[in-house]
Amino acid sequence: MTDPLNNSYYAATAAGWRPRGEALDDRCDVAVVGGGFTGLSAALACAERGFSVILYEAERIGFGASGRNGGQLIPGLRWTASELADEFGNERAGALFDLCWRDNRVKARIAKHGIACDLKAGHLEAAWTPADFAAMRREADYLGQRHGYVTDVVEKADMGVHIASPLYNGGVYDPQGGHFHPLNYALGLAKAAEAAGVRIVEGRRASIDSLKARYIIDATDSWIGEVEPDLGRYTVPIMNYNIATAPLANADALLPTDAAVADSRFVLNYFRLSADKRLIFGGGERYSQTPPRDIAAFVRPFMAEVFPQIANAEIDYAWGGAVGVTMNRLPHIGRRGNVFFAHGFSGHGALITTTAGELIAEALAGTAERFDVLASLPSRPFPGGEWLRRPLATLGLLYYALKDRLG
Ligand SMILES: Cc1cc2nc3c(=O)[nH]c(=O)nc-3n(C[C@H](O)[C@H](O)[C@H](O)COP(=O)(O)OP(=O)(O)OC[C@H]3O[C@@H](n4cnc5c(N)ncnc54)[C@H](O)[C@@H]3O)c2cc1C
Repeated sequence: MTDPLNNSYYAATAAGWRPRGEALDDRCDVAVVGGGFTGLSAALACAERGFSVILYEAERIGFGASGRNGGQLIPGLRWTASELADEFGNERAGALFDLCWRDNRVKARIAKHGIACDLKAGHLEAAWTPADFAAMRREADYLGQRHGYVTDVVEKADMGVHIASPLYNGGVYDPQGGHFHPLNYALGLAKAAEAAGVRIVEGRRASIDSLKARYIIDATDSWIGEVEPDLGRYTVPIMNYNIATAPLANADALLPTDAAVADSRFVLNYFRLSADKRLIFGGGERYSQTPPRDIAAFVRPFMAEVFPQIANAEIDYAWGGAVGVTMNRLPHIGRRGNVFFAHGFSGHGALITTTAGELIAEALAGTAERFDVLASLPSRPFPGGEWLRRPLATLGLLYYALKDRLG
């Protein structure tokens, strides 16, 4: 299927992959629904544990958020480590820290399977306001003192080391974060999964009832409501858009340390360089499912605000995708009978989805201790039922976006 939203830099530079057809026999121990990071990671980890696995992908591997995202590998969750400790106490927060900050499963997979996906180290969180910077500094101190997790607090005057933009009031550089080519990571995981015995079926929109498996893993994120309407109540899909410029002669001057950057606005700007020196820039959300007629024109002003020096740069690619967002911005992970699920990573899934997939495999094999750390995160459905859920969630998001603009 052609997808008007996927004129992406990633699709244009994807590693070789020929479409996978039907499985001759549908019977298996584990059926995985969804070929993004979560499903691929779970399928691979289940096969490594000796289960027979079939992964069904409605379109093609990496069709969803996993093949379209900003490629920013940001340790942690949407809540800070100290927010988690305040809410859940030190012990639970410590277990979450070990899984979500300390243990970088993406790096481990890339190294183990030799996945060529332009992995680079370094992530900068850039403060929009002085108050944001003060909060970032407090959090960096907390991470260092409580967990021995070392980041670098960057004063406003020193931001030029990392970024040639006048906008920011300081930031925190995390050498443990980074960025990558997400679609090529997904395709690399898919190849590793096949090598471990997973049968991949593309172009098949699976329904839970039709699957002949002992266990099912629902990894359909923004589409989960189509597969299991009840789980669909826990997320709303928010559209987010990206552009890639033509290769820039001054790319290294824009981001001298080649870090990925995300800023602290509610509707954030996030950007990084590609391996061939384009600026990949994400900015602006839309609360309607209909994409802007001209995605490049929609995103360009956000880029021009951050980097006026390339306001008129040529834009070669523009694309978008749906971010599955939960009420509290924490992922919703769990088990219902023989169905495991993980969704709603709320724009913070590039790193943690691989972990979530591996923890599902661990739980399915009988050791649920680490899975339960994520599964015990609180979650509640959006209010409003099928028709009102999206408008009500949209109103809430518009409120925060407006607060952002008013400063
Ligand atoms: C534009 C954008 C930018 C983002 N930027 C970042 C970022 O920089 N950093 C970050 O950490 N996170 C980012 N995210 C979020 C991150 O990409 C996601 O959290 C993550 O990729 C979710 O992975 P997933 O495997 O759970 O879901 P997906 O990758 O969406 O995979 C779900 C798959 O299920 C398939 N499917 C749906 N229904 C069925 C069915 N019935 N049968 C079979 N298959 C089905 C879909 O086709 C899809 O391929 C971004 C998201 C978007 C959209």
